[in-house]
Order: sequence, then C-alpha cells, then structure tokens
Amino acid sequence: MTDWTRLIRDIPDFPKPGIVFKDIMPMLADAQAFAAAISALAAPWRQIPIDAVVCIEARGFLLGAPLARELGCGVVPLRKPGKLPGATLDVQYALEYGHDALQVQADALPPGARVLLVDDVLATGGTLAAARALAERMQVDVVGGSVLLELGFLGGRTRWDSATPLHAALVLQDDFPMRECWQ
Ligand code: AMP
Repeated sequence: MTDWTRLIRDIPDFPKPGIVFKDIMPMLADAQAFAAAISALAAPWRQIPIDAVVCIEARGFLLGAPLARELGCGVVPLRKPGKLPGATLDVQYALEYGHDALQVQADALPPGARVLLVDDVLATGGTLAAARALAERMQVDVVGGSVLLELGFLGGRTRWDSATPLHAALVLQDDFPMRECWQ
C-alpha cells in the first residue's frame, strides 16, 4: 500500500513564525495516497455503529466526507461563524496559532445520534475539545475522535476524555524535521 505519510510535508513559519505547518495537500492530490490515508482513518471504526462523521472546517471536510462514505454514514460540518443558514450552536476556542469559533446547525442531528469527530491535525487539542463541546450541546453521543496526524509532543490528547477512543492515523512524537530533510 502507498506510504501516504511521505506526502505530508513541513512548511516552516506558516501561518506565522515558529509554527511548522503540516501540509497534507500533496497527499490529497495523489489518488493512491489519498485512498490509503482514508483507509487508515476508517480502520478502527469499521465495526462500530456511527450515524455521522462530524468534521471541522476546513481540512477536516476533505477527510471527513470521504471517511463518511467509507463508513457508510452521514456527514455534518462544523463551520467558521456566518457560513451556515438557520439556527446555530456556537463555541469559541483557542488554536495553536490564534483564536477561532465554530458553529453547527442546531437541527443537524437528532439527540442521541452516534457521531465520530474528525479533523486533520491534533495539535494542542483545543479545536477537538471545542468540537466536543458543540457535540454535547447537540445532545449527540460522541463514540470517538479521529485525526490524520497527532502532534504528540504538544500533548493535545490530554484534553480529550480518555474514556472515549481517540485515534490518530499517524503520531509524531517529536518536532524534529521530517526524515527527508536530513537523510
Ligand atoms: P489545536 O486546536 O491546537 O489542536 O489545532 C488543531 C487545528 O489547527 C486543526 O484544525 C489543524 O488544521 C490546525 N493546526 C494546528 N496546528 C497545525 C499544524 N502544525 N499544521 C497544520 N495544521 C495545524
């Protein structure tokens, strides 16, 4: 199977100095790597009943929608403020590189729906924690969290309730430059 991890590249000092941005676009642009990455995301959840993938703007959409098709469930977007029509629920949160807010349509899912929260990167964990807070207000049942890449050295996992599974398809345990840079 294609090693999709090799197509994630480091972009230093983006979006601001000191941040090493994990750029998944080359992986998404490669048909085989994209398919392999979605399979890796789906693997732990195939036997678990899930009604919807709830995914986070914007790169979470690029992973969440194909993952939902792979798992045979629906997809619900968590969006930046002002993008969704109708009544919404809102949450504010802190990012590794700033502050932001998320909204979901208040009637997106019925209470008790079983959802999987999905994003591209787990960094400090604030975004996924915010998504979880929104899910609680929706009165849905969070069966787990799923990210493509976990920056383990930032400790974001500690902000996730450990009674619920949180899966990362790839975990980076240190912030040393990717191997291509020093071989
Ligand atoms: P956090 O809330 O700190 O866990 O940050 C996770 C969110 O910010 C995800 O939606 C990511 O898309 C984005 N993000 C944070 N840090 C990075 C990074 N180093 N590279 C790429 N995306 C990042």
